[in-house]
Amino acid sequence: MSGRRTAIVIGSGFGGLSVAIRLQAAGVQTTLLERRDAPGGRAYVYRDQGFTFDAGPTVITDPSALEELFAAGGRKLSDYVELLPVTPFYRLVWPDGTQFDYVNDQAELDRQIAALSPQDVEGYRRFLAYSRAVFAEGYLKLGAVPFLHIRDMMRAGPQLAKLEAWRSVYAKVATYLKDERLRQAFSFHSLLVGGNPFATSSIYALIHALEREWGVWFPKGGTGALVDGMVRLFQDLGGTLILSADVKDIAVRDGKASGVRLADGQALDADIVVSNADVVHTYGTLLSGTARGRAAAAKLERRRHSMSLFVIYFGLDRLHDQLAHHTVLFGPRYRDLIQEIFKGPELAQDFSLYLHSPCITDPSLAPAGMGSYYVLSPVPHLGNGQIDWSTAGPLYRDRILDYLEANHMPGLRSQMKTCRIFTPDDFKSELNAHVGSAFSLEPILTQSAWFRVHNRDDEIANLYFVGAGTHPGAGVPGVVASAKATAGLILAAA
Ligand SMILES: Cc1cc2nc3c(=O)[nH]c(=O)nc-3n(C[C@H](O)[C@H](O)[C@H](O)COP(=O)(O)OP(=O)(O)OC[C@H]3O[C@@H](n4cnc5c(N)ncnc54)[C@H](O)[C@@H]3O)c2cc1C
Repeated sequence: MSGRRTAIVIGSGFGGLSVAIRLQAAGVQTTLLERRDAPGGRAYVYRDQGFTFDAGPTVITDPSALEELFAAGGRKLSDYVELLPVTPFYRLVWPDGTQFDYVNDQAELDRQIAALSPQDVEGYRRFLAYSRAVFAEGYLKLGAVPFLHIRDMMRAGPQLAKLEAWRSVYAKVATYLKDERLRQAFSFHSLLVGGNPFATSSIYALIHALEREWGVWFPKGGTGALVDGMVRLFQDLGGTLILSADVKDIAVRDGKASGVRLADGQALDADIVVSNADVVHTYGTLLSGTARGRAAAAKLERRRHSMSLFVIYFGLDRLHDQLAHHTVLFGPRYRDLIQEIFKGPELAQDFSLYLHSPCITDPSLAPAGMGSYYVLSPVPHLGNGQIDWSTAGPLYRDRILDYLEANHMPGLRSQMKTCRIFTPDDFKSELNAHVGSAFSLEPILTQSAWFRVHNRDDEIANLYFVGAGTHPGAGVPGVVASAKATAGLILAAA
């Protein structure tokens, strides 16, 4: 091969951006193609009347993975973006008015746990020890390791068995904690990466230790500032980002990917193709001309996909400083509601919400004295739900806003300056997400590690994957780790 190797990365989510940075830093001339008018994928940014809304990720954990990524590019994260600590990590609120501020201070945590259930103080300590053990094994050791072969899975088997990875997060938490509210407080985290706490492997209990270890952060200027920082790093390294570049096909010649074709007919060649687009979309649409693509898509379509989300972004002419930056509003039901969210077919009458109030940490995201917010509700994906979002969406929005106004944000309606919604239909049409899933394949044990989409395709040798559908899975730390695994494979194949 003469000259530098070239790579095309399809999609500029955190996974696509991270792999593009690593490849470009290692001397592979990389072009990043994004179909939308701005980078970030699920971390897209809306701007309206002086309000800035991060569309997706807001809880930034494991800054060390980001620091390592920037270091791979020979730069410092802090030269591109400032991370602000968030405290409390989350405020958890139940319908009976119980409030729990989940903080990183052991004495304060003990005090709050004791107030709800004195016997659970000791149980929490044992849960934390368990969470730390899974974190060491599942995240530190295996998080960025590509599982290409069944033997990789077998090797991890004994440790997974020891950690009882076949049990669900909730089941495991329930062995340590007696109080139902505390069980919810320490099991809901898997929802942040698309996992049902009653079905997802207890390995995901590691998220708690990860947060305790490295904290919860928020980029100054919003998550969009982190996306911008990563784009700048990529471009400073000499990479090319092309927006509004909708890939229609991945060209495969003699069993190898040779480039892509865009919606406008333009063909781009490369030695390596990496897809950060939805895995079903990649196989089923971009590779529909190949037997491999059709077979892989058919198999993936039968897998279980994570729930979708209904999100309302709204700007108010006042800052509700009684709120925490991150608030989880549990509904009257937990287990049954979650089962309905994951199985459908209807939209439940009650809801559990996550309310984002970023101006608590960074007032610059709204005009002076005002507040930008988003509230999300997990909902069935389009394959499970029989919901017409064109009519259900506005009604659901109103129910949620009424609830917030009555219980948490007095005067909300009269303070409203701007409001928009994002439904499962939008996940499908804007992001090419199969069945409008917000997090790709559901992270159950039989769809994790080797059972997930491999970071390198099994048949098309120079086709790679990165992002939520690959190992280790959804969430910013997950997709950044997947990029490390994928880049490692590509660079090792040089
Ligand atoms: C509302 C919401 C809140 C979340 N909150 C958190 C959080 O607080 N913390 C956390 O860690 N995680 C959170 N997550 C999860 C996290 O955002 C995702 O798992 C992660 O960002 C996905 O990154 P990705 O690399 O898989 O790419 P994605 O973000 O899925 O990006 C894929 C990109 O590919 C592009 N694309 C698709 N098809 C094509 C094509 N044919 N041609 C060109 N481009 C294409 C898409 O436009 C998109 O930009 C949240 C997710 C959502 C939706």
